[in-house]
Amino acid sequence: MTSSHNDLYRPPGLLDVLRLPLIGRLLCWRWGRLALQVPLLAAAVLLVIDGFTGPQLAARNLATVAPWVHFRGFAVLVLLLAGNLFCMACPFTLPRTLAKRLSLGGRRFPRRLRNKWIAIASLFLLFVTYEALDLWASPALTAWLIVAYFVASFVLEVVFTESAFCKYICPLGTFNFVYSTLSPTQIGVYDPDVCRACAGKECINGSYSPTPLVRLDDIPGGQREVRHGPQGTPGCGTLLFAPQIESNLDCTMCLDCVRACPHDNVGLFVRQPGRELLHPPAWPKRWDVSLLVMMLAALGLVNAFGMVPPVYELQRALIKTFGIQSEWLLIGLIFGVGGLLLPTVLALLAGVLSRALTRKKLSLRHTVAAFTPAFVPLGFGVWFAHYGFHFLIAPLTIIPVIQEFLGQPGDWAAFSGAADSILIGLVQVAALVLGFLWSLALANRTAMRLYRRDAVPGLLPWALLLLALAFAAGYVFSLPMEMRGSLLMG
Ligand code: SF4
Ligand code: SF4
Repeated sequence: MTSSHNDLYRPPGLLDVLRLPLIGRLLCWRWGRLALQVPLLAAAVLLVIDGFTGPQLAARNLATVAPWVHFRGFAVLVLLLAGNLFCMACPFTLPRTLAKRLSLGGRRFPRRLRNKWIAIASLFLLFVTYEALDLWASPALTAWLIVAYFVASFVLEVVFTESAFCKYICPLGTFNFVYSTLSPTQIGVYDPDVCRACAGKECINGSYSPTPLVRLDDIPGGQREVRHGPQGTPGCGTLLFAPQIESNLDCTMCLDCVRACPHDNVGLFVRQPGRELLHPPAWPKRWDVSLLVMMLAALGLVNAFGMVPPVYELQRALIKTFGIQSEWLLIGLIFGVGGLLLPTVLALLAGVLSRALTRKKLSLRHTVAAFTPAFVPLGFGVWFAHYGFHFLIAPLTIIPVIQEFLGQPGDWAAFSGAADSILIGLVQVAALVLGFLWSLALANRTAMRLYRRDAVPGLLPWALLLLALAFAAGYVFSLPMEMRGSLLMG
């Protein structure tokens, strides 16, 4: 380990996971990511096979039970306790390795599209498709969705140099990026002086070259030989520069930067969860990022709303009032208004009020961006309460589903039970209350930092918005929800 020559700099944490025995070696190993991806690729293939050839009953098919009941609950828990491990082991990036070899163009993704607007659109499309096609109830359509994912990732990687699919399009990755800002791990460097002296910046540029090359770097502590060659590793696919990383946003945890760095200067540090939410410079002052965070919180609420009785009353009212016949249009309208339009209008309104009630005149964009991190914990709480519900109503059903997939009788009597309803309720309440308190504390801190003596009026619109979101979520989760994915639902 190198020592820091910069007294002000501190790595994001004291413990580097990559220096732990066994796990550290596995993760740093050249084929470490592949070793994690192959089991998930095998699982995806099995899901597709069962989706196309197995029973078309949602609760008895791997293609519906695994992703819609178990994976999502597991994914939010892992994000909270460990980090963005799903992107790290993502099977959809595997065919990209092949695509990279076929890549002819090597073009950058269009500059105008290098933002989160497409990702917002693809999240919206995924949620509307999920509801309109009842994906949770259709093994074959879920299998098609998995196939479409592989194709999209492959095509994007053939056409563009960077990992455009992960960074700008993938709805799952976007969800993981936003909520991995709460995670307790983060990429960082040990010594920024070493980075300054590093000639190749391999963490972002990679260490691949068609012919072997040798270079000498004058780094603090002496000269170091650096080798490039056909066995080299790629640099960061999402174009993050390791010494400048202050947030998990856009980090797929692929660890390519770790493998490419010739000076062993990159670590995966255990850090304070939500570190960047407290650190304003780490948060981009961009409309696309700010609205993505707010919309994701609102989409979590609308997604849960789609499973409770009032949604049917709303649909009937919309049909009666506007004469809408298309289910796509109906669902698109509910998600569009509740998940995109409303959070945008309310965020702008809160920003305008905050500016009007205080003397410090930050621009509207900066005001909204400053309060954006406060919507991460509560948004996550809403998703956790929702996905936790799905998981807990059928926590072990994957076992008889696998048994039946393998041609054996499924032991439904032993494994189809739901967790205690009081426990489910407690998990949901805890997720919402803790998320709300964390969010409020962040908003309060932002208001204190921005407005000092005007902190209370500056905070008020944002606190009310958070309170409204928490109450709306509490109301939705207090209603009877559809038991999707369990035998009770069919
Ligand atoms: S992290 Fe490694 S490769 Fe990147 S600039 Fe620093 S020393 Fe160079
Ligand atoms: S290469 Fe980029 S995306 Fe991968 S772990 Fe490093 S910083 Fe994250």
